[in-house]
Amino acid sequence: HNHIDHASVDKVEAAIAAGDTHAHVPDYEDYAAYIASGGYAELKALRDHGDWEAVQDKVLASGLRGLGGAGFPSGKKWGFVHGNTGPRYLAVNGDEGEPGTFKDRYYLERTPHLFLEGMLIAAWAVEAETCYIYMRDEYPAVLEILAREIKALEDAGLVAEGYIDLRRGAGAYICGEESAMIESIEGKRGLPRHRPPFVAQVGIFDRPTLVHNVETLLWVARVCREGPDVLSNTQKNGRIGLRSYSVSGRVAEPGVYLLPAGSTITDIIAAAGGMADGHVFKAYQPGGPSSGLLPASINDVPLDFDTLQPLGTFIGSAAVVVLSDQDRARDAALNMLRFFEDESCGQCTPCRVGCEKAVKLMQADTWDQPLLEDLCTAMADASICGLGQAAPNPIKLVMQHFKDEVGG
Ligand code: SF4
Repeated sequence: HNHIDHASVDKVEAAIAAGDTHAHVPDYEDYAAYIASGGYAELKALRDHGDWEAVQDKVLASGLRGLGGAGFPSGKKWGFVHGNTGPRYLAVNGDEGEPGTFKDRYYLERTPHLFLEGMLIAAWAVEAETCYIYMRDEYPAVLEILAREIKALEDAGLVAEGYIDLRRGAGAYICGEESAMIESIEGKRGLPRHRPPFVAQVGIFDRPTLVHNVETLLWVARVCREGPDVLSNTQKNGRIGLRSYSVSGRVAEPGVYLLPAGSTITDIIAAAGGMADGHVFKAYQPGGPSSGLLPASINDVPLDFDTLQPLGTFIGSAAVVVLSDQDRARDAALNMLRFFEDESCGQCTPCRVGCEKAVKLMQADTWDQPLLEDLCTAMADASICGLGQAAPNPIKLVMQHFKDEVGG
C-alpha cells in the first residue's frame, strides 16, 4: 500500500501549478531572499574549485551526527559512500513519521534553501547522480514549498531538470526506516532490508546511496558557510554541539527548541515555558515512542546520543513528550505499542505477533511481567529492524520505573 503512485505525484504537481493545493503555505525564505543573503555562494565555490575531503574534514570537525535517529557521524558516511564505485545516489529521509517529531517540518517551512543547499553540497561531495527527497505526504505545505523552490533552482540553472526527484511517502511509518524508504523509492512495498550490506554500499537500485535526514543537511550548509564552530563551540554538561528538540505534551509552549546537546529534561521543560498550568511533571518520552518513558526523577542526564544508553533508552530524533500527574505511564506505553502494532510491516514474526501480543497483555489491570519480559527479549533479539527491536522499550521502562501502575 505504500508504493509510489506516479499518477498521484503528477496530480499534486498539477495542483501546485494551478495554485490549488489547499495547503496553507506560511511565509518562508524563498530563492530570491536566500540568494540575497549569500545563499548558494558556498555550493558554487565548491563546485568550482572545492576539495570534497576538505569539506568532509569540516563536517567531521563540527561533530555533526545524523539527526534522523541513529546518530552516525555524517562525515564518515560520506567516506563510506564515496569509497564505493559509482553511480551513486543521495536520498533524503523526510518521512518524519515518529509521533512527537516535527522539527523537519518546522525548518522546511522556514528555510527550505538552507536544506537544499546542504543537500546539494552533500550530493557534490559523493558525486550523486540524482537526489531523491522522500517527503512525508501529510506535510502539504512543505511539498508545495519544495516543488516551487526546486523549480526555482532549475530555472536558475543550479541543477539540471529532474536532478532533484521529489517523492511523496504514503503514510507508512516504516518507510522512515532507511532501507524500507529505499524499497519505496524503487516502487516496491516498504519492507526493511536485512543488513549487511548497508545502503552506503547497496542502496537505491543497488547503487551506493547516501541517506541523510533533513536537519542533518541543514547543518551541512551551515557548517560549510559558518565553519565547524557553529556546532562545536557549544558545550554543556560535557556534551558538544546543538540539538533540535521537538517538545510536546504537558508543557506551556510546545514547539521546536534549538538547545545545547547537553540539555537535560529540566532545561527542555524550562525552554518550553515550564509545565502547563495545573500539571506536575511526572514522566517523559526522551526521543520518540521507541525510546519509551523515563520518570521525572531522572532529570539530570543530558538528552544526547549515547548518554541515555545506560538507562535503556536513546535520544533518536529528539521527540520529547512530557507527561504529568494527570497521565498514566502505562497508558502512554500502551499507546506506543498500539502504534507499533499498526505500523509493523509484518515481515517478521517477533515484531508482527509480538506487538499484537504485547498490546493484549498490557490491557490487563495487573501485567503478567515475567511473560512480558520474555516477549520483550524475543522481540529485541529476533526482529529484523529497529521497529521490532526497540518496541519493547516502553514496556521494560514502565515495569522498571512505574511498578505501582502495573501491579504484580
Ligand atoms: Fe517489519 Fe517489524 Fe520486522 Fe521491522 S521488525 S521488518 S517493522 S515486522
